[in-house]
Amino acid sequence: MQVDVIYENMQVDGGFSTLAVLHGRIVALGDGVAGLTARSRVDLGGAFVVPGFHDAHNHMAHFGIGLGEVQLGADVCKHVDDVYDAVARRAAELPPGSWIVGRGYDQNKLVGGHPTRHGLDRAAPGYLVRVKHTSEHMTVVNTAVLDQLDLANVPPGGDVVLDADGSPTGLLREQAQLLLRPFSYPVDVETVVDGLAKASRQYLSEGITSVQEAGIGGGLVGQTPIELAAYQLAREREVLGVRSTLMVSSTMLHELGHNTGFGLDLGLHTGFGDDWLRIGAMKLFADGSLVGRTCAMHEPFAGEADNVGYFQTPEDELARTILAAHRAGWQIATHAIGDRAISVVLDAYEAALAKYPRADHRHRIEHCAVLQPDELTRLAGLGLIASPQGRFVNELGDGMRAALGPEREAWCYRLRSVLDAGCVLPGSSDRPVVQGAPLLGIADMVRRRTSSGELLGPDERLTPRQALRAYTHGSAYAAFREHDVGTLDLGKLADFAVLSADPTVDANLDDVRVLATAVHGTLAYEA
Ligand SMILES: [Zn+2]
Repeated sequence: MQVDVIYENMQVDGGFSTLAVLHGRIVALGDGVAGLTARSRVDLGGAFVVPGFHDAHNHMAHFGIGLGEVQLGADVCKHVDDVYDAVARRAAELPPGSWIVGRGYDQNKLVGGHPTRHGLDRAAPGYLVRVKHTSEHMTVVNTAVLDQLDLANVPPGGDVVLDADGSPTGLLREQAQLLLRPFSYPVDVETVVDGLAKASRQYLSEGITSVQEAGIGGGLVGQTPIELAAYQLAREREVLGVRSTLMVSSTMLHELGHNTGFGLDLGLHTGFGDDWLRIGAMKLFADGSLVGRTCAMHEPFAGEADNVGYFQTPEDELARTILAAHRAGWQIATHAIGDRAISVVLDAYEAALAKYPRADHRHRIEHCAVLQPDELTRLAGLGLIASPQGRFVNELGDGMRAALGPEREAWCYRLRSVLDAGCVLPGSSDRPVVQGAPLLGIADMVRRRTSSGELLGPDERLTPRQALRAYTHGSAYAAFREHDVGTLDLGKLADFAVLSADPTVDANLDDVRVLATAVHGTLAYEA
């Protein structure tokens, strides 16, 4: 038999050193390659090869588009004045009246706290300014923008923060950001395609070969109601570099009639698509952010006796939507961060499964940030998938510890105990909320050090092998894709990352690099 390509001289955990690819799939391994002829051969020079990384929760379109926005992350902004300076520098490059959009500030890491509209007014007079919090759950706008908003009709599940005099500070939280929708939505399809192309190139350089996009179409995370068309165009133009499973915002689903229930037009639901582009779960928001202290908690945040957060979607509506989507055959992925939100979502899943039992539903709780021990038992018993982000412990961990206080720290972004409870654990970043390179995420799943160096939840540390398994097989499972990707087995798609060192060795985690990435058997990136 003649194959397309034989990769040889590699080190793989499974022991083999040679791999043959035909039509994008692994058709022979190790001794099985002997005797095959190939159109080409690639010598990997003894490098380590792992299954391609798979980010189970990211916002690729948003990240790609955001590469062109003013970067306000803690790496560049230490003081709130640094935010204002960055906005002023962008203003100097643009004609007056233009929009200036910044992203990535974190008030927990900024001397001076949240930016204010007055500060933004001074930084860029005559411009329309919007700066987004790193969690994407909050935005600060300047007065010129604020004056154009319908503040008499703030959507439920959000708020416009007021100063001591009762006048808006410019900070819009959670669903209040929807007031900005007329200015930012829909994003032009060509802009989305361009963002996907840019993001793909970066993802491939980080060893990523598959992603799950955590919400297209609408809600707070969607770019355009025809977002699937942007992905399809990107694929047709061969600029979509990574396999993409697209969660669909619950706001895009509707009653279909004809006894088909609830879903997208034509009755499309989870699983439709091919090896490159598929419809994934329905994405639903229960509550908000832990570092932003808006998520729904059973007990108040540390030091804020009257703040227990709130729901973005009312509890009865959550239960109704989950029931309808479950009944219609969707996988469901619900964003729930606070322990009260998690309790309510567990109730809703439990009720839906009791009414319409379904094996292998793989319903998910995204982030699952404050998980009480009894609720973990319940989650595992229902066969649910918790989808926490290892990197959050590093970049957001200090703010999360401050919000929870010492009594609740052990419940925060649990990993090891989720595995111990018998669940499959995916790996993900929620990029652009934090950095998304999987090797960073894997190191953080093992280390669990906050950016100030504190150890957060030491019992939740994974071994490097467990973290790697999460970022490959675990994520594939969470997308119903484990029969095609996530391990390097015979018959699977030939997606892999070539690394400078063995990532299952703890001591290598700080300096292991991606040398090359193959998707569908073809090297799509070489360092
Ligand atoms: Zn997300």
